[in-house]
Amino acid sequence: MNFGNQRLLERRLTAFSRAAAGFSTAVGLVVFFGWVFDIEPVLRISPGFATMKANTALAFALSGIALWSLAHNIPGNTSSRLCDKGPKRLARLSRVCAVVVALIGLITLSEFLFAWDLGIDNLIVRDHITTHTPHPGRMSPITALGFVLMGVAFIIMDFETKKGRRPAQWLVIPILLDGFIALLGYSYNVESLYHVVAYASISLHSALLAVLLPVGFLCARPGKGLMVVATDTTAGGWIFRRFLPTAVLFVPALGWLRLFGQKAGLYSLDFGTALLVMTNVVVLSVLIWWAASFVRNQSLDRTECEERLGKDKERAKEQAIFLERRVAERTAELQETVAELEGSSYTISHNLRAPVRAMHAYADFLLADFGEKLGETGRDYVHRIKASAERMNRLIEGVLAISRVSRAELRLASVDLDSLLDALVPDYAGPAHVQISHPLGTVRANQCLLEQAVSNLLDNAVKFVRPGTKPHIDVWAQPDHGKLRLVVHDHGIGVPSESGGRIFASFERVHEGYPGAGIGLAIVKRAVERMDGRVGFESKEGEGSSFWLELPTAEIQKKPLCANSALSR
Ligand code: ADP
Repeated sequence: MNFGNQRLLERRLTAFSRAAAGFSTAVGLVVFFGWVFDIEPVLRISPGFATMKANTALAFALSGIALWSLAHNIPGNTSSRLCDKGPKRLARLSRVCAVVVALIGLITLSEFLFAWDLGIDNLIVRDHITTHTPHPGRMSPITALGFVLMGVAFIIMDFETKKGRRPAQWLVIPILLDGFIALLGYSYNVESLYHVVAYASISLHSALLAVLLPVGFLCARPGKGLMVVATDTTAGGWIFRRFLPTAVLFVPALGWLRLFGQKAGLYSLDFGTALLVMTNVVVLSVLIWWAASFVRNQSLDRTECEERLGKDKERAKEQAIFLERRVAERTAELQETVAELEGSSYTISHNLRAPVRAMHAYADFLLADFGEKLGETGRDYVHRIKASAERMNRLIEGVLAISRVSRAELRLASVDLDSLLDALVPDYAGPAHVQISHPLGTVRANQCLLEQAVSNLLDNAVKFVRPGTKPHIDVWAQPDHGKLRLVVHDHGIGVPSESGGRIFASFERVHEGYPGAGIGLAIVKRAVERMDGRVGFESKEGEGSSFWLELPTAEIQKKPLCANSALSR
């Protein structure tokens, strides 16, 4: 669930950062010129308050510029930049300002530490107003330390540890706390909070900027380091964005009210304290109740969603089981129908064999006994009847062979291709030259079906060559992701490209004038697919073909070659 628009939050935070930077520069410049033109109210805001020193004003102005440049130059965010050349210029500007700020702080700090005077305090403007300190014009050591931290923080602002932490953010937190305490001191009129020792007082505007600049610094990189939670769109981010402002603004305001009431004589110290404690308890309780109700509602919503999801999942599972069952039933029905069809086609083909053979035999008898009487035309007719009977017989044999391949019992085991080919090749060695690239490997297959498929491919490789050419066949195997592809390559007449995969269909022939019934490749396809394999070919007409079959590889486990020839064509 999303709580808040992250982009909008980020835009608002960077806008605040730029505003804080602008304000800091403006205040710094006004005070600096206040020193130049001797305008005292600008220097201390109210009579009796500490003055902001000229160097402090300058450092705040430069810090503002550094922050402004950094807030316009967010790495990876082109929309935040002013122009194309901007990133480099802005980076240089922010670095120069940051270094000067850190140096101002460092030199001043060294003056305190080593009790020397490097002349920096009154370098630009002479402080003739401050009389009660031994070093007029010098900022407080706490302010100096703050500028050192601020300067370093600007320089390493975008450095991030592997865990996504940003040390620069931790450097500005002490400045923020210091400014916050000083601001409380001014608002509660507790001098010790902003005037620790004689030369360690913080002016009101310094205190304000010491709060605004670090906050602006943190907001300049929303979603990074500590600020992840500020732009977070989870429940955590929602709570953070509501509670932090309440805690930071409301609690000090209550403290101020308590003091104001007491000073105005509305109640005594004891009563005021009790009132403050009670108000704090009420405010805290309301906040806790608010957070608890929010988290509770989220949990309830989530539980409800989870329950709904669980029910949906359950329903989906039931549906899946139902569908699976339906698919299984339909598949069984289809398998039964196919088996029935195959069975009847087998029976019909089988039964057709006898009449066809009888036709052929009687045609022979007719020729033998009455050939002379039939005359030329009569004998031609009888020869045609014989040829048709032979052709029909071949077709019937084809149908029977395909049926046998489809119905053969399928037991898969490891089949060693090397042994299988070695046993087959002698049959072809006479009419053809067969070259086998051993080792071929082992596949998971049915020995008999595979033997049938390979010999069909070899038959074709021997058969489809130009007349008078001795067939040259190469056989090799190539493994491919758990499969083994056996390739039978010939240098024969090839297959025209337009015939495509059609040649694997039953009774499909491309080349006339070559013996065959067009069922060899159909048997290869049917057999290989029954063994979870694939078939295919690449060919160029007139240049030869590569017919292949692909089967899952298997562990070596020698098996006897298929002894029966029941499957042969
Ligand atoms: P048959 O060999 O009985 O014709 P097949 O099913 O084995 O039937 O082959 C189908 C057709 O594919 C063949 O008629 C032939 O046109 C073509 N064919 C098969 N193998 C080859 C090959 N090695 N070279 C050229 N053509 C082939």
